[in-house]
Amino acid sequence: RQSAIAAVTNYRTTSAPLDFRETPAQELFGANVFSKEKMRDRLPKAVFKSLLKTIEEGEKLDPTTADVVAAAMKDWAIEKGATHYAHVFYPLTGMTAEKHDSFLSPNGQGSAIADFSGGQLIQGEPDGSSFPTGGIRQTFEARGYTIWDVTSPAYILENANGTTLCIPTAFVSWTGEALDKKTPVLRSMQALNKQAQRVLKLFGHTDETLVSSTAGPEQEYFLIDRNFFFARPDLINAGRTLFGAKPPKGQEFDDHYFGAIPDRVLAFMLETERELLKLGIPIKTRHNEVAPGQYELAPVFESANLATDHQQLMMITLRRVAERYGMSCLTHEKPFAGVNGSGKHVNWSLGSASQGNLLDPGDTPHENAQFLLFCAAVIRAVHKHQGLLRAVVASAGNDHRLGANEAPPAIISIFLGDQLTDVFEQIKSGGANSSLPKGTLTVGVDVLPPLPKDAGDRNRTSPFAFTGNRFEFRAVGSNQSIAGPLVAMNTIVAESLDYCATQLEEATGGDPGKLNAALQELLTQIMNDHGAVVFNGDGYSAEWHEEAEKRGLLNLKTTADALPALKTPEVKELFKKYEVLSERELESRLETYLEQYCLSVHVEANLTLEMARTLIFPAAIRYQNELASACANLKLVGYEFDTDTLDRVTELVKYLQDSIAALEDVLLQGHDGDLIAEANFIRDTTIPAMNFVRKYADELEGFVADDLWPLPTYQEMLFIR
Ligand code: ADP
Ligand code: MG
Repeated sequence: RQSAIAAVTNYRTTSAPLDFRETPAQELFGANVFSKEKMRDRLPKAVFKSLLKTIEEGEKLDPTTADVVAAAMKDWAIEKGATHYAHVFYPLTGMTAEKHDSFLSPNGQGSAIADFSGGQLIQGEPDGSSFPTGGIRQTFEARGYTIWDVTSPAYILENANGTTLCIPTAFVSWTGEALDKKTPVLRSMQALNKQAQRVLKLFGHTDETLVSSTAGPEQEYFLIDRNFFFARPDLINAGRTLFGAKPPKGQEFDDHYFGAIPDRVLAFMLETERELLKLGIPIKTRHNEVAPGQYELAPVFESANLATDHQQLMMITLRRVAERYGMSCLTHEKPFAGVNGSGKHVNWSLGSASQGNLLDPGDTPHENAQFLLFCAAVIRAVHKHQGLLRAVVASAGNDHRLGANEAPPAIISIFLGDQLTDVFEQIKSGGANSSLPKGTLTVGVDVLPPLPKDAGDRNRTSPFAFTGNRFEFRAVGSNQSIAGPLVAMNTIVAESLDYCATQLEEATGGDPGKLNAALQELLTQIMNDHGAVVFNGDGYSAEWHEEAEKRGLLNLKTTADALPALKTPEVKELFKKYEVLSERELESRLETYLEQYCLSVHVEANLTLEMARTLIFPAAIRYQNELASACANLKLVGYEFDTDTLDRVTELVKYLQDSIAALEDVLLQGHDGDLIAEANFIRDTTIPAMNFVRKYADELEGFVADDLWPLPTYQEMLFIR
């Protein structure tokens, strides 16, 4: 630990400084992406047009064009120094997987040519038998295929010694079932488009362009020096600290939030951003977050599918670049207990080229009937499917964050803000006639211009907030793929739009003159049935928990409580009806996520045992021994030694020993039953047993001599850089 501190304080950067004058950011953008522009330049007109139809209008891919595209892609990649290509896919672990193949093909005459066919572009067959599939695929039928996703462009990934052409793909079994996170995203976008078109048609917009869901994820993360990281087995293996007393100074002063960014961190951010820009990821904002050592990064929103792929690349890039600056990037939801956790706010909306953002209320939302309908559809969807929305953000890591007095509670509710709440209140009682004015914000300083005010203040305590022209799903965990939350959002809103379109089609019988009256009635009914999910108050407060219960809202506190929502008849029916996930595909997800939960807590429990036994207990008894011998020696020379400290340490050592034994016992207990029973056992028994070990270990940290304490402390990890 002491040498880690010395190494950190002697840190000097080894990275060459970046010079954005050499290559301005605009020129970097998309440099490593086989973008539409590059395709236009390099492909025959007809081929390009046909591809564009698939990308922009969701038409079926014409396989005869694949050879031409593959050849152009390969030439471009080889110009960029690529030697290999990789089908990149997104297994249910939430990670990114890639299988690399060389372009090189021996020609049988003793030399080799660079070769890449349409077949190789469109389809790959990785041996993915060891990815979790929740029972869909057994190892004896291990065939899984990766299939080119035309809507997410290929890109080049650079490494110090070469580059690889990466092709985003869907990953399916030989029976065509989705084994990955991408396939359902694409299916859910298709479902959303279909239902949104029906609604738009009622408003007289026929022949519409594709309606896509859009997503802008804000990523929170921690940075700590790598020397500390490697001195902590818990960070290496579990991504979070399993021990560590609260530092004397935490985040109480709020002096980190939006503070000046430290130099080394800023250098890291600039390089990360440069890498992301090259990959065509429209990175936009960066700032310090609430906790010391915590930061945030956010791109401009994109189509949901692309945003999902880009989000995965963002996490990978953050980790990679951090290493170049001697740091570790922690994306776990709660790396440090008692300190703010990390989330990934997923901003979500839907829109089309011709209509723009469908959740934009304009200045007078009460007159914007189309907006009101789309917004009401979201309210209905969230109320109806609270359980599903809670389940898609459930993980062992996020359990430490949700409801921890800094992150949204586990109760799913919607924040609408004053203006919209007022409009919807009017709707509830029969119809909306006015919108509260937005007003202007005057600061009282002449040199500052008056600003138009936002229609509502922000509410950081809400898990699902309307933020002016989109909803922000704040309960999503920082380590999660955003695919699950987006699939849920797209599908539940598709269902809601389906419901609205059907009601309105029936009520108007095709007569546009009847639309207004039908709409009034529908909106009033939706708000009466589903308005209970709207809550603008303090989500952290105890009163809200009581109030939410009265309103009949779910409060699924942990992953073990939340995941079973995936097997309710409503959720099964929902995914089946909109052809997003078959029953078997849904079951496989439930099983995989339960398994992941159980596995990760088991790893943590075993680590807790090991660290307590081999690091903390030995340090504690060494110190106890020192105290005891000091005591004995003093007695020999005739002094009376006050044994208070020795008594306390002895007591804590005993408790530590007992709690270790108890945890050991828990881990030996078999629990017959299914994965849900196991998850419940973990929630009720394993985690409390781990917490006891931690409690005594952390107390000992406050007594044991600093030079004997083996683990870098919170204060060191969070404040030394
Ligand atoms: P804040 O921290 O104030 O919420 P940020 O600027 O950090 O805001 O992030 C807001 C995110 O919302 C950005 O990624 C932004 O592109 C995204 N966003 C804006 N409009 C939309 C939209 N129509 N659909 C999806 N995301 C959007
Ligand atoms: Mg935000």
